[in-house]
Amino acid sequence: MATRRLYYDDAFQTEFTARVMYCEVLPPDLSAGITGKAWGLILDRTAFYPTSGGQPHDLGKIEEANVLDVRDQGDEIIHIVDRKPGDPEVKGCINWPRRFDHMQQHTGQHLLSAMFQERFGRPTVSFHLGAEASTIDLRGPEPAADILEGAERAANQIVFENRPVTVRYGTAEQLSSLGVRKEVDREGILRAIEIEAADLQPCGGTHVKSTGQIGLILVRRCTRIRQDWRLEFVCGGRAEKAARHDFQLLRETAEKLSCGPEEVVSAASRALAERDANFREIRALLERLANAEAGLTLQSAALGADGLRVVSRVFEDVPSEYLGFLGTAIAKTEKTVALLGMAGAGDLLFAQHASSGKEMNALLKQVVGKFGGKGGGTRDFARGKLADASQVESALALAREKLPSA
Ligand SMILES: [Zn+2]
Repeated sequence: MATRRLYYDDAFQTEFTARVMYCEVLPPDLSAGITGKAWGLILDRTAFYPTSGGQPHDLGKIEEANVLDVRDQGDEIIHIVDRKPGDPEVKGCINWPRRFDHMQQHTGQHLLSAMFQERFGRPTVSFHLGAEASTIDLRGPEPAADILEGAERAANQIVFENRPVTVRYGTAEQLSSLGVRKEVDREGILRAIEIEAADLQPCGGTHVKSTGQIGLILVRRCTRIRQDWRLEFVCGGRAEKAARHDFQLLRETAEKLSCGPEEVVSAASRALAERDANFREIRALLERLANAEAGLTLQSAALGADGLRVVSRVFEDVPSEYLGFLGTAIAKTEKTVALLGMAGAGDLLFAQHASSGKEMNALLKQVVGKFGGKGGGTRDFARGKLADASQVESALALAREKLPSA
């Protein structure tokens, strides 16, 4: 027996009485988030909207039972509830804030899709009403910023005019003659939603009574999704929340940058330019410091039996690029080898002057092969990273030991 859908006639009805037609215990359904015992309930009539057409189902209560899910099954609507009603006559009550939010987003979608189609020739090919934001997928070339803003402004203008939103019934042919936005080829009497002088669209969902109830429509971002463009938007209460949140972020950012909200972009650009200049300055200073340290270190480095000066050192807390500068600076002097490491990070850097005649890359590969890690380079310059940073001292000891034969 078909369930009478009370929301077809009055989407603002929140309470109703009904007769239980069918009730059966259901197995747990993890994919629907139903972990405990649940019953499937069919009533002779209901104000509960089932998941369909991109709009999520309602929540609420049927007597003492919580409604966990509402499913559309042909002519019948199944309510998934967490307890069995004791009486065949039941009273139902839907969660109104959730439903009204869905009605704002859903009616807003009708209006926004109509504006994209009418004014910019971009048809909507799908709609999703999400928990945070909703999306429509638009077909056609990428909508430029002026199109996104144009459709948003046109939709909001119709919101301000507070035009009636009404239900119309007719055959596909009749609706087509009235200029329906999306043609359907279903038989029988169809239900369509009309926004006065703006849109006519077949739909079985729930809608507000006039465009003013949608509230402000905000278009958020637009991203490519396969051959279409996915547009994120929020309406009404969600737009209010988004605007408040956006301004909060702006104000916090302005406080951090010690400027007014309107100066955030220029202040952030200045801060980034300063950061880049500081970065370049620090690099230049590190290089000068490395040259000076290389000179001092080489003065005190003993000459080995093979005529090589070997500098082997582990650093604790220098920027990792310092190893590169120092290795390069040391290796500028003939017959020198630098074996450097960074405790904490596990970095290794082996460098030599070409006249030293060793193989830095091969030496590094040997060391990381023994201790675990990765790295590589050339005959004169190689760098790597140990998997276990605490092994840096031991790794350098092995490198010194293997150097004569490298
Ligand atoms: Zn609709």
